[in-house]
Amino acid sequence: MTKYNPNKIERKWQKAWAKKKLYFTKDKVKGKKSFYLLTMFPYPSGNLHVGHWFPYTGTDVYGRFKQMQGFNVMSPIGFDAFGLPAENAAINRNLDPKVWTYGNIKTMKKQLELIGTILDWSREIITAEPDYYKWTQWIFLKLYEAGLAKRERVLANWCPHCKTILANEQIQNGECERCDTAVEQRLLDQWVFKITDYAQKLLDGLEEIDWPETTKVLQKNWIGRSEGAMIKFLILPILSPTKSEKQNRGSSISQPNSLNSGEIGTSSKDYIEVFTTRPDTIFGATFMALAPEHKLVKKITKDQFLGQVNNYLEKTKKKTELERLAEVKEKTGVFTGTYAINPANGEKIPIWISDFVLPHYGTGAIMAVPAHDQRDFEFAKKFNLPIKKIDLDSEIFKELSKKSLAERKITYRLHDWIISRQRYWGAPIPMILCGKCGWQSVPEKDLPVLLPKISNYKPSGTGESPLAKSEKFVKTKCPRCFGEARRETDTMDTFVDSAWYFLRYADSKNKKEFASREKLKAWLPVNMYIGGQEHATKHLLYARFITKVLHDSGYLSFDEPFLSLRHQGLIFGADSQKMSKSRGNVIDPDEMVKKFGSDAIRMHLCFMGPYENGGPWDPKAIVGVYRFLNRAWNLVNKKPGNDKLDKSFHKAIKKIGEDIENLRFNTAVSELMKLLNEVEDKQPVKKQVETFLKLLAPFAPHLAEELWHQLGNKKSIHLEKWPEYDQKLIEEEVVDLVIQINGRTRDIIRTPRGLIESEARELALKSEKIKKYVSGKEVKKFIYLSDRLANFVIQ
Ligand SMILES: [Zn+2]
Ligand SMILES: [Zn+2]
Repeated sequence: MTKYNPNKIERKWQKAWAKKKLYFTKDKVKGKKSFYLLTMFPYPSGNLHVGHWFPYTGTDVYGRFKQMQGFNVMSPIGFDAFGLPAENAAINRNLDPKVWTYGNIKTMKKQLELIGTILDWSREIITAEPDYYKWTQWIFLKLYEAGLAKRERVLANWCPHCKTILANEQIQNGECERCDTAVEQRLLDQWVFKITDYAQKLLDGLEEIDWPETTKVLQKNWIGRSEGAMIKFLILPILSPTKSEKQNRGSSISQPNSLNSGEIGTSSKDYIEVFTTRPDTIFGATFMALAPEHKLVKKITKDQFLGQVNNYLEKTKKKTELERLAEVKEKTGVFTGTYAINPANGEKIPIWISDFVLPHYGTGAIMAVPAHDQRDFEFAKKFNLPIKKIDLDSEIFKELSKKSLAERKITYRLHDWIISRQRYWGAPIPMILCGKCGWQSVPEKDLPVLLPKISNYKPSGTGESPLAKSEKFVKTKCPRCFGEARRETDTMDTFVDSAWYFLRYADSKNKKEFASREKLKAWLPVNMYIGGQEHATKHLLYARFITKVLHDSGYLSFDEPFLSLRHQGLIFGADSQKMSKSRGNVIDPDEMVKKFGSDAIRMHLCFMGPYENGGPWDPKAIVGVYRFLNRAWNLVNKKPGNDKLDKSFHKAIKKIGEDIENLRFNTAVSELMKLLNEVEDKQPVKKQVETFLKLLAPFAPHLAEELWHQLGNKKSIHLEKWPEYDQKLIEEEVVDLVIQINGRTRDIIRTPRGLIESEARELALKSEKIKKYVSGKEVKKFIYLSDRLANFVIQ
């Protein structure tokens, strides 16, 4: 008998499967339903550690199972190749981001192949390739046409380390998610996607999809719908505006980027608008506070207060949003010298400026109700402002509505998605600025706008992209008047690339469209999507948004991209810490493969615990799994015998199938181990040994394939059908038999299933309780309902 040697068989079968193109999925297979199984595509960040195997392994076990169930499974793969992480790493090494990224892709491909998956490499995409980002740019144009991509002056998060603007979703606790540097606020002209126009649709769609509840809640909170009222507070007359202010006013009203509301008209109509979810607390409003960035600040500040207000505005600029929000921090603020009128009771209340009010929350202005709000209370205490307790009165709203001082309003916490990046390594934004015609989109026929090779990739820090230095790139002709014009030099956020990649897999080589309607219909929407929960309010939100936009523009027939979603957990080092080089706890999968083989790693990852939890890598446990695989090897190398063992097999088929379907890989593996325990000392018939291999195949595909062929089979085991089970054979062996005397239940006893009448009678009569009733009496009749009931009729 030969010894199990994974290294000898695993590479052999990987080559054989590749040669036969076993996993090059056809768009249609007669008699088979398509099943689109997707795992989130990786950043080409460098070497994989064993934790990176986790999502692919789980996805693969599930996909192989689905295949054996008879589905035509597509499980594609590609690389999210543009973006900050790769670019920062390249700059640190003084490398061209492209050279660095493509080098990593090469390494990662080899490492991914080691896992032995059904990944379909024929559909591979790399988002940094012109034939891919051509369509990213095309999607930008579609949003632009629909009025959903706009150039706006926005207060945006600036990472001083990465030297670029970031979207709100890419900020964690006030820090850049890529480098943990505290972000600053900058007012800049940026390209934004109007995702807020889709806020309600994004909320509604969540009801229709099979996603983890926690992820839905994360998205719901992120979108943050709140219902309340918009209330107008009249400003007490201030000096009539000067000539220059009047002129400014004309231009400011036409600007689309109002950070706040409120207009300065004739003095009697000046007002500040606030949004509140508690209009009933308005009687307790004793002062107002504006964000320092609020448009009215300078206009309403009285001359004698201007000095301190300006001082305060300067100080605010240096603070991060997090600092401004920190609850422990003492409240700061300055008085403007101006008052507003509380519309509920006509009282005069002072208008303050404070940085705890953020410009993009609500209207950038609040009515402060210190008796009913802790933050307002702290502020009132510090500055000796009145605190007024009120009886909450819900009629208020109606009264104010009558006077047109309040209206019902729904607001969302969600912000528009700023997609401009002042960085090199991304898809150029396909826009041209002409001195005469203004912004013009690049005509579709001129796509892609190629990312040029330049010598200095480093971000400048001035807010200008490195591409701005390339005159060759920048200088172009206006598509409208054919005069001299300049290209946009910012590149797109890498999350735009990944917001549609799942569509491209359906038709990755298409040169005329992002994907043909026919192929989209064949595959989309994705049946099962597997990836990390950290993408809940980023990629998973953006992908839904882009899908809905393409649906509404007539390019897609569905408006939710991922019907089912599941998250895998994280694999930690043996010390329960996140695997990282600096901690020295990284497990190198290549080394593990040499030692135990790919199948052992796969099975160990599956066996560790619930898939959605992940956990620490246990170096001892993999030895146990390796031993199990050795025993499986030996079982098949033994001569098959005549022991039928039906029950054990049918039970295992049912349990393992149900477990895989629900991504309970750990309990499926333990069921396999149980089955082996039950049968390895016996002599199962050949068909059952084959069944065992089929059950093992999704987890240990190489070993199963090798043994399958050793048994004399010619076709791949992965093309076999998943075994069926016989429900009757696995039903419980014992039943609860109800025993009655004259129709009244006197006892319930456990009996073997399938007793005949005489056996049931005999057993029933052994019960002490029954004996009591029956002894010395004549049994006139005995009624028996198989496996359920026995009734003695006595006198
Ligand atoms: Zn950063
Ligand atoms: Zn022009």
